[in-house]
Amino acid sequence: MKTQCRHGHDYTEENSYISPAGKRQCRICRAERAKSYREEDKLDRELLALEERKQLRDKRRVLLEGLKEEEEDKRSLAASEEENQRVREERVADAHDRRWERGPEWKEEKEQRIAGILKAAREKAEAEIEAPS
Ligand SMILES: [Zn+2]
Repeated sequence: MKTQCRHGHDYTEENSYISPAGKRQCRICRAERAKSYREEDKLDRELLALEERKQLRDKRRVLLEGLKEEEEDKRSLAASEEENQRVREERVADAHDRRWERGPEWKEEKEQRIAGILKAAREKAEAEIEAPS
């Protein structure tokens, strides 16, 4: 019968533990094993908590980056709409200025053009009324 455990502890009566299966175990080793397990378990939990915190931070960062990108998209969209509006207004103003530069005739031309359109419309309407049904 062995007098020492694998770690060199004496199998005295007080240091011997008989397991339910009838096996003799060293009490010092049992205690140390349990302590070592608790330490390892604590370390694992700490590492897990750190990993979870890191994952949360990463998730938060991704979310923030997504929000930032969305904001930038909205800003650039608003900017391009503003730019389009500005270009449209400029084009209308330029066209008006070009007509204005031609002198007072453009106003007359415009009135004549409108009068022509109205006359054609009236004639068309009259022709429809007079047409035999
Ligand atoms: Zn031992």
